[in-house]
Amino acid sequence: MQWLKPYFLITFCLAAAFLAGCVKTNMKDEKSTTVAQSSTPDPLSIHKGAIAIDMHADTVQRVLDEDVNLQDQLSDGHFDAVRAKAGGLDAQFFSIWVEPQLFGGGGERAVKRADDQVAAIRALAEKHPETWALATSAAGVRRAVQDGKIAALMGLEGGYAIDERLDNVQRYYDLGVRYMSPAWSISTSWAGSSGDEAGATRGLNEFGRNVVREMNRLGMMVDVSHVSDKTFWDIVNTSTKPVIATHSACRAIADVPRNLTDDMIRALAKTGGVVNVIFYPEHLEPGWSQLKKKVDVEIAPMVQEASANEPGSAVRKKLARDRVRAREFARRLPPVYVSRIVDHIDHIVKLVGVDHVGIGSDFDGVQSTTTDLATVADLPNLTKELLQRGYSASDVEKILGGNMLRVMDAQQGE
Ligand SMILES: [Zn+2]
Repeated sequence: MQWLKPYFLITFCLAAAFLAGCVKTNMKDEKSTTVAQSSTPDPLSIHKGAIAIDMHADTVQRVLDEDVNLQDQLSDGHFDAVRAKAGGLDAQFFSIWVEPQLFGGGGERAVKRADDQVAAIRALAEKHPETWALATSAAGVRRAVQDGKIAALMGLEGGYAIDERLDNVQRYYDLGVRYMSPAWSISTSWAGSSGDEAGATRGLNEFGRNVVREMNRLGMMVDVSHVSDKTFWDIVNTSTKPVIATHSACRAIADVPRNLTDDMIRALAKTGGVVNVIFYPEHLEPGWSQLKKKVDVEIAPMVQEASANEPGSAVRKKLARDRVRAREFARRLPPVYVSRIVDHIDHIVKLVGVDHVGIGSDFDGVQSTTTDLATVADLPNLTKELLQRGYSASDVEKILGGNMLRVMDAQQGE
């Protein structure tokens, strides 16, 4: 009889599912017994249980300039949705970066370049809501985590795009931007950079201080990465809200102007803020910066040749130069490991405690990474190293993102 067949089939399936369930339950019991008996915590489950927030990646430029699809697992670069999921990343602050030499240190082109990047990030969540959720607050990050999505957030790198207009700070806030660093490697008229001569003597002028006050009013975090020492102190003395460094490290270990001195780290912690440690060897490894400068001289003809042979736009030529530099750095410079990142985290913890440190990879913004944290997919290796050094699971949660959630909660505007 026809109807008997499906009936038996359903019964069989139900019985099989029941048995499989029993076996599964037993296996789970066994696993939890093993975990309970073992004294070492399981790094991967601690990593997955934490909310991991990377404060800085330059990936959106790849979306615009190289037309990459972040839904695919890309064969180059450091970041995409597939590798972010594999690495247990929950939230990514995308850097809205305007290269002043290519797009101007202000003016229409700089504003457009920033706006295009903002639009590209907003489009991620609109086109792929199953993967991404646009977030502008700690609550938004937590919601995305609950929904199993990656939170996409935005920060403005260098104040070029506000075009020396205070009302543009609110405009970017309204578009969803939640942090800004006043200068990248080239000083603005109102804020000194650590990357040029002007920055040696330039801090914030009155307009710059008003920008910081406006950011405080709105609830946009002030980022000190890239600014000059003088600008750092002016920011810390002006801001009434916690100040952050989105991708910096410690000058006491790697003596480069981009890094923070111990006094700066103490002052930043006093505001309630967080130093998010960068993953870039130049800012991590003592002496690496000097070696890199030597290599840059050696490979200059090769880099120029690649640039000349690239028929495309100025942006394409820069990409061609960066590709050669990345290849040659890998060949000619000593490898640096995730343990060095943790040395910087350790140093900050010893200075100001575990509540003032986080992570800011600078993925897709650098031509070299550490060997065992080479892309976002390797993020669990950081947790493993932290646990090996004796950090507790709750310390790891704070470092991976908990501290930044606290700072984001404290930024809420008026
Ligand atoms: Zn940067």
